[in-house]
Amino acid sequence: MATEPRSSERRGGERVAEGTWVPGADGSGFGIEHLPYGVVRPTGEAPRVAVRIGDRALDLAVLADAGLLALPGLSASALRAPALNGFLALGRDVWSETRARLIELLDVRGPGASDVGALGERALVPLAEVEALLPVAVGDYVDFYSSLEHASNLGRIMRPGGDPVLPNWRHLPVAYHGRAGSIVVSGTPIRRPCGQRPPHAPSEVPSFGPERQLDFELELGFVTGPGLPSGARIPAAVADEHIFGFLLLNDWSAREIQRWEAQPLGPFLGKSFATSVAAWITPLEALAAHRVHGAPQDPPPLAYLHTDEPWALEIDLEVAIVPAGSRVELTLSRTNARELYWNAAQQLTHATSGGSALRAGDLFASGAISGLDPGSYGSLIELTSGGSTALQVGDGSRTFLEDGDTVIMRAVAAGGDRRPRLELGEVSGTVLAAAED
Ligand code: MN
Repeated sequence: MATEPRSSERRGGERVAEGTWVPGADGSGFGIEHLPYGVVRPTGEAPRVAVRIGDRALDLAVLADAGLLALPGLSASALRAPALNGFLALGRDVWSETRARLIELLDVRGPGASDVGALGERALVPLAEVEALLPVAVGDYVDFYSSLEHASNLGRIMRPGGDPVLPNWRHLPVAYHGRAGSIVVSGTPIRRPCGQRPPHAPSEVPSFGPERQLDFELELGFVTGPGLPSGARIPAAVADEHIFGFLLLNDWSAREIQRWEAQPLGPFLGKSFATSVAAWITPLEALAAHRVHGAPQDPPPLAYLHTDEPWALEIDLEVAIVPAGSRVELTLSRTNARELYWNAAQQLTHATSGGSALRAGDLFASGAISGLDPGSYGSLIELTSGGSTALQVGDGSRTFLEDGDTVIMRAVAAGGDRRPRLELGEVSGTVLAAAED
């Protein structure tokens, strides 16, 4: 597997700061090199766009009001907004200029400590005092199936005896259109869905009731801007003009419903009840030093899916569970996003190749990310071989999720070798019992 890091001159001319004057931010994973975007609501106030620095939210609307974010094309209405969509619509140049200006204001060597510092906690609000909202009003949501290991594992479980990976898989990034309206921000409780569960024998009929094989899927998503009309394709070489940033995502999955309904079409109710995303979106620019070349694709993809740029992301991923009734967190799986077969540029290029429009705030997710070893699988259906092997979890065991279980996903782009250490916003959710009839 090729491992060369993205060379330093590819960092888009970004100014490299030595650190920030914001207390506690350096080394926290949310330092000046990161600055993920979100939308926060301070108590009793309207939502606004912010970036996270350390354990604080830097309020961009307050900065703009104070004249500290006077940039061409950056409108106050995009910042005093309930979602990032208006900002995403402004496009790559404004994203870059805003980021550069924020780095300047937060740089320990710059004048920001007095300029921003004078605004006090109005500008730099402790995270404990704001509500972090769903960062994007997602228009369209696509979930890919881009991990070869995950596709192979699931193929073996869902279609035993056949070739686990179907013939199209290595030629195109397989995906389905998901349910944008069911996307929730990290921390939102997840109600166990009800649905049709498959019959045990061909002579029986299905039953309707609470899903008994509730699962998670560890995924990385990206959001888009500024948008394109129908029919305008995105060449893979310019995908970075359209990919704003990345975030962790849990594609909650109801395996009984999925197994029964997805014959022959893709997931429907098995995936439409909830998808959790992080509150903070890491800009593509912040990940520049963590971009690497992925493993060679065999066979080589068709020309329109060819990428030269290093689009694999060197990001460590982890899934943990706090079992119902426990306070102890246990790690279930560890993997790395670089394991993905299809990259974000290929996914976006493919998604628009047929004439689909693209809007600011569309969400594209990777599909469950699994590695080769059992300890690196990104879903319970893989970790328990389809529910046949229970996992020891503290004093108990699990095949699938039980009511009261909390699932937490974390992601770290490791530091070192002139790479800053970045911690992506986590995604957590607690399972609630199914609704009573
Ligand atoms: Mn998925």
